[in-house]
Amino acid sequence: MSILSVKNVSKTYQSGSRKLTVLDDVNFEIHAGESIAIVGPSGSGKTTLLGLCAGLDSASTGSVVLHGNAFEKLTEDQRAAVRNQYVGFIFQNFQLLPTLTALENVMVPLELKKRKDAKEKAMALLEKVGLGDRNTHYPTQLSGGEQQRVSIARAFANEPKILFADEPTGNLDTETGEMIEDLIFNLNKDLGTTLILVTHDSELAKRTNRIIHIKGGKIQEGNHG
Ligand code: ADP
Repeated sequence: MSILSVKNVSKTYQSGSRKLTVLDDVNFEIHAGESIAIVGPSGSGKTTLLGLCAGLDSASTGSVVLHGNAFEKLTEDQRAAVRNQYVGFIFQNFQLLPTLTALENVMVPLELKKRKDAKEKAMALLEKVGLGDRNTHYPTQLSGGEQQRVSIARAFANEPKILFADEPTGNLDTETGEMIEDLIFNLNKDLGTTLILVTHDSELAKRTNRIIHIKGGKIQEGNHG
């Protein structure tokens, strides 16, 4: 089953009188449960493509369909509703809310859905990422790897169909990064969550099913190696 379809997508940014075409007629299809790496040089449009796939931004032309929802036909509120229902995010800089504890951060998406068991579910998720004993810690009281584990617990809180990860190990040392990778890939496998990650780490990319290379606005699908 196709979970994400990108058809004839282009993205042009306007800065002053200049136009910058970052993506030029991009096409691909992703099936439920797959893991995909988007790779390419810095500035090649990886983050832009991820944002379009997640409905955070609109394509200049073309169509992005996520779980049957064509983003170009939706209002901003409707796109947000699709994201809340189907999508989880992990970022390079974790993006935890600094005034909330680890537990409260994981509870945020559950409370948005008015889940009565938000606290118990969030606690179970923290335990799953090995941080049950850090539930009352604030982000500044956690190491980088621990913060990323909290953000993974938060990303999985709504049992997303698809997880977008933008350089998830970019701010971590190698050993911690590998532990975070294992966690993400194990959840991808155990829960069948589709995984789309942006990385310039070729070792990380090799762990995915497929690699999409971006260069000069065009994409090329490749096998490993
Ligand atoms: P990558 O993630 O591969 O490093 P990005 O998608 O962040 O690349 O950016 C691709 C190009 O688009 C870069 O040249 C960047 O400067 C430009 N760009 C990104 N966002 C904007 C924006 N909002 N307005 C204008 N240009 C942008």
